[in-house]
Amino acid sequence: MSQGDKNFATSQQILSRESNKNSLNFRRVFGLNDLTERLTKPFVLGTIFVLSKFNRHFIFTMIYQKTLAQSVETSGIGLHTGVKVNLRLKPAPPNNGFIFVRTDLDNFEIPASLEYISHCSYATTLLRKGVVLSTVEHVLSALRGAGVDNCFIEIDNLEIPILDGSSEIFLELIDKAGTIEQEVARKFLQIKEKVEFEQADRKMTIEPSDKFEIDCLIEFSHPFINRQTFQFVLENDSFGREIASARTFGFTTEIEMLRKANLALGGSLDNAIVLTPEGMLNENPLRFQNEFVRHKILDIIGDLTLVGMPILGKITAEKSGHAVHASLMSRLLKTETAWEIVEVKG
Ligand SMILES: [Zn+2]
Repeated sequence: MSQGDKNFATSQQILSRESNKNSLNFRRVFGLNDLTERLTKPFVLGTIFVLSKFNRHFIFTMIYQKTLAQSVETSGIGLHTGVKVNLRLKPAPPNNGFIFVRTDLDNFEIPASLEYISHCSYATTLLRKGVVLSTVEHVLSALRGAGVDNCFIEIDNLEIPILDGSSEIFLELIDKAGTIEQEVARKFLQIKEKVEFEQADRKMTIEPSDKFEIDCLIEFSHPFINRQTFQFVLENDSFGREIASARTFGFTTEIEMLRKANLALGGSLDNAIVLTPEGMLNENPLRFQNEFVRHKILDIIGDLTLVGMPILGKITAEKSGHAVHASLMSRLLKTETAWEIVEVKG
């Protein structure tokens, strides 16, 4: 881990200021903690207090980290590899984050972290010490969407099962397990400055917000898609209502090329929307008229878990994909003035 230019002190250095929004008081604590040691540069840790006035008293309710109440499991096949795989979600201690465990390789661990991204063509693949783990984004999206902070994700093969092509079954598993609060405050990556990444007509920005929100636009010259936009705010059960069931999609015109590249080997009408030039092969209807852009948001939420903690910021994505998501995260974390780590009391 490299040390940057910021000065760190073991004692707390406290600053307070009134925000012009929501009467926030900020307390910044400069220092490192064990969560941040997973990342490649030092962070600033702070606390936000959201004041609630009740009977002349200020009430503080700490937002605590959460994990699963019990283990849950499922099985399926990998979308790209076609291999059969068993998956188990297990409770994990505070500040653990999400860690994949390859039970077929002596419980080799691959933390869900930006530093292990290997490649991003058609899915996000992690690589650590030669061990590969593919298509991590849908299960990570479900965990973040459900408000889980810490979880071990055990699998016994090299790709997360695609299930029905969405995050719905992962979310049902998490609901079945239940969640419990842990006695450690949740840490957020709060965005302080706008950061953007642009590549040809693909563009993605992240800017300050007191929520986690995503504005997304996609454009494909297909009669079912054309231009679709959706605005999403992660709050309460919005992920389950608006995003979780949106399925991945592909085009028949791409399938031959994908299969030649050893991709989409497990793809079928059970786990993807398959679009022909004029329509789709699936007999069942779309789950939303704009299911495609909703799935893009599902992927963004999943990919952005790789920064290591929930984000307070607004993302705007135009025609983005896994590689753009990774590039934006990388640029964000390298821009030290653009973020700080905070704890929120609401
Ligand atoms: Zn996806």
